[in-house]
Amino acid sequence: MSYKVKEAYLTIQGEGYQTGRVAVFCRFSGCNLWSGLEKDRETAICDFCDTDFVGINGPGGGVFVDAKSLTIHLLSLWKSTKKPFVIFTGGEPLLQIDDTLIKELKRNKIEIAIETNGTIPRPRGIDWVCVSPKLGAEIVLTSGEECKVVYPQKDLDLNQFLEMDFKYFSLQPMDGDNLDRNIAETLEYCRNNPKWNLSLQIHKFINIP
Ligand code: SF4
Repeated sequence: MSYKVKEAYLTIQGEGYQTGRVAVFCRFSGCNLWSGLEKDRETAICDFCDTDFVGINGPGGGVFVDAKSLTIHLLSLWKSTKKPFVIFTGGEPLLQIDDTLIKELKRNKIEIAIETNGTIPRPRGIDWVCVSPKLGAEIVLTSGEECKVVYPQKDLDLNQFLEMDFKYFSLQPMDGDNLDRNIAETLEYCRNNPKWNLSLQIHKFINIP
């Protein structure tokens, strides 16, 4: 199988529990909750996306004909002699990640993380699963390392996630015109519900991708 990648680059994880950790980001093209086109946003299940995941034209993007060629590409972006760490995101990475890719990544001793909307089953062998649920989209991934919720999402009951099998719970202010208000509301929620950690998108504050 070939893999469509919007962009891939070395950066730091800007949000969630692993904030600040150096990683290769691999952003797959496509999502099952929005086409990525502005004309479809209003009718999308997920209508607050802040990411361009359409096409393959970003830095380090392209079509990779097999798991081996994608893995070689990702390894070429890693600068350290320490174990490589790759975060797969999107779009929705589980539309494309399969057993073959996981096996090839593992063969090359790569630590694997994903950022997923939780609506698609995952293959085995992923080291760090971060699920970011979206209102109106049924979650099938109810366990993992981190549950990271963009806040507020109208009528989304946060307590339902605390009953799921995640190690860490992160609450992240929704970006956009109301960011200041959303930061204040998220902070207030975390103060009153300390199982939730505040997650800030620090890559936006320091202006890196
Ligand atoms: S699920 Fe994630 S990638 Fe897909 S539209 Fe929503 S925020 Fe964007």
